[in-house]
Amino acid sequence: MSQAFDAVKSLEEQLLCRSYSRYPLAIARGKGARLWDVDGKEYVDLLAGIAVAALGHCNDEVCATLTEQAHLLWHVSNLFYQEPQLKLARLLLSTTHHGKAFFCNSGAEANEAAIKLARRYMRTIKQRDAFEIITLNGCFHGRTLGTLAATGRESLSAGFTPLPEGFKQVPVGNTAMLEAAMTPSTAAVLLEIVQGEGGIVPLPEDWLRSVESLCRKHDVLFICDEVQAGFCRTGKFWAFQNYGLTPDIISTAKSLANGLPMGAMLATDEVAQGFVAGSHATTFGGGALASAVAAKVVEIMLRDHLADRASQLGGRLKERLCAMQKRLPDKIREIRGLGLMIGIELLIPGRPVWMELLHRGYICNLSHEVTLRLLPPLTIDEADLTNFSATLEDILRST
Ligand SMILES: *Cc1c(COP(=O)(O)O)cnc(C)c1O
Repeated sequence: MSQAFDAVKSLEEQLLCRSYSRYPLAIARGKGARLWDVDGKEYVDLLAGIAVAALGHCNDEVCATLTEQAHLLWHVSNLFYQEPQLKLARLLLSTTHHGKAFFCNSGAEANEAAIKLARRYMRTIKQRDAFEIITLNGCFHGRTLGTLAATGRESLSAGFTPLPEGFKQVPVGNTAMLEAAMTPSTAAVLLEIVQGEGGIVPLPEDWLRSVESLCRKHDVLFICDEVQAGFCRTGKFWAFQNYGLTPDIISTAKSLANGLPMGAMLATDEVAQGFVAGSHATTFGGGALASAVAAKVVEIMLRDHLADRASQLGGRLKERLCAMQKRLPDKIREIRGLGLMIGIELLIPGRPVWMELLHRGYICNLSHEVTLRLLPPLTIDEADLTNFSATLEDILRST
């Protein structure tokens, strides 16, 4: 490791809470799908800040909107009407069947808003004391106490109990267990169409349809967590649109403002009645600066048909990876994913492969020690993806 890197690392040990295990990299700047570290070494970014920089780093058009808005207005709080928030809401809602938006600052907050809306809708509109939220094994919904309870993973909640009540998990793919879990106290089922932190696990299409039907049958709300899979990543603007589902509520964040903290919850007009003035609020959510940037991001995604691009690039990358799996059946267990959300599950320890990729200038994520997780910018050049495949094959052959 270089002197510049060592300096950053030791300063961090002095100054920051130890809540992260970092990659051995200190990033200094980015452009498009490229990052440069503090020593000037160049990387192809196949992670995009965990599905955040969907338009690439320091996108020129987004930068122009950011600086323009920065000279006009940043923040006044939600005590005021703000036009950038409305421009964003109109654009966002044009992509889906939902009728109302609530803005916040992160994925966990978007899920908190969704959970609160579901409960309050049940109590005040449906007049039913339903509060329980059913989630799935392997899910991830955030790190606040409420979303930790929704996530239900002991490894993440150890030391932080007691967590809020009213959450239970069922296994993916088991319709009988899901139906058995639904009681008069059930307010909603919350799930990710493609489990992201879980290691890129797309849920079975037929089963997703059963989940939605069961929700309708038992008058339970259907909530999709689109925080990672949303914003064109899976080949549709929203992941649920791949299967023609109609969730009552969706939570979103990551790509929304291409790197500025921003989240949103979208609900149908019916369910949105669950909130009235004073029900829920945030100081920063939907601020003028983040909203103006997010509106530009959504505008570009629609104008440049990035969902189609993700579908095409992702489809061809998946084909190449599947062909590689046939050539290396003792190294690759499975290729999973939708669009540009791809997991490569290995049959050999993933860490040395991931480290060698890093060494050769490719940044991806390693999930559960065996799955290479790819979430590249949707604007990435296809050559970067083909070069990555070739490099990966070279590494796997020599491992
Ligand atoms: C990242 C993520 C979250 C949490 O988002 P934060 O912005 O980190 O709070 C929630 N759900 C899913 C599916 C995610 O991928």
